[in-house]
Amino acid sequence: MTSIEQKEADPEIPDLIVDNTTGTTYVKGRFFGKGGFAKCYEITDTKTNKVFAGKIVSKKLLLKSNQKEKMMQEIEIHRSLHHDNIVQFYGFFDDPNFVYIVLELCRKRSMMELHRRRKTLTEPEVRYYMRQLMLGVLYLHEKNIIHRDLKLGNLFLNDDVQVKIGDLGLAARIEYRGQRKRTLCGTPNYIAPEILNKKGHSFEVDVWSMGCIMYTLLVGKPPFETKSLKDTYGKIKRCEYRIPTPLRRSQQAVMMIMSMLQGEPSKRPSVKELLNHPFFSCGYLPPSLPVSSLTMTPRFD
Ligand code: ADP
Repeated sequence: MTSIEQKEADPEIPDLIVDNTTGTTYVKGRFFGKGGFAKCYEITDTKTNKVFAGKIVSKKLLLKSNQKEKMMQEIEIHRSLHHDNIVQFYGFFDDPNFVYIVLELCRKRSMMELHRRRKTLTEPEVRYYMRQLMLGVLYLHEKNIIHRDLKLGNLFLNDDVQVKIGDLGLAARIEYRGQRKRTLCGTPNYIAPEILNKKGHSFEVDVWSMGCIMYTLLVGKPPFETKSLKDTYGKIKRCEYRIPTPLRRSQQAVMMIMSMLQGEPSKRPSVKELLNHPFFSCGYLPPSLPVSSLTMTPRFD
């Protein structure tokens, strides 16, 4: 950044946010978090008192290269989605300084915080979370959308501990049957080998990421973790991981992870096939989880 740019003070997000297109006014409430571009606040519609998450992006940040186009692509994809396991998109608008996206509020943060607190989850919990994640991803894939950045931090939780997939910033639409995407601007967390090898990629990358998510939830750390990104990428390309043996894990869980973490994308099962995997029927699948399970191991008896 040049010194001239540094001198200009960043505009502040107003306490009253007005959507001139609909005449709706929101009161800005508590700060939720900050991502690569966006700041997220609780916002309340002054007329209805309904509370939402407001994802707010400074227009200054959108001036660089193709950031504006990327954000429009995210909005274009997200606004077309309606599913219980996907953060609902309610609208977007702007003022001279900011772009605002109005989203379903997920007050219980994300599965990243859950993982930090609990490290490993019980198999019934993993069944619960993986099923909801897969129902959301099935919906995306049936609409020809690949998420491309499924990770714990993008799996938000509402007050009822329901999974809501969010942040469609790297999502892409498959335009014709069999299309392989060649480019991806950004660094997905649980990146699939075919993206690293630039071989062309499609829906299978989401299955790979879900394999990494399931592994992390059961083992307590990601499958290809090393001290450097270079080493991690090497391990991913060689599909080099192991599931530690002190197994309190069911064979079905191990089999499901192994089916998803296959180097060859065409060998991975589809989301539909995964939802029928014996893992989901070999043990207890809770219909709901108590909020206390976000911090303490729940007992199912
Ligand atoms: P970016 O696209 O800039 O990375 P994110 O979508 O990751 O932005 O959002 C930034 C932060 O805002 C998240 O880490 C999270 O703390 C919070 N956040 C995002 N969406 C919601 C939501 N729907 N409900 C509650 N908090 C959210």
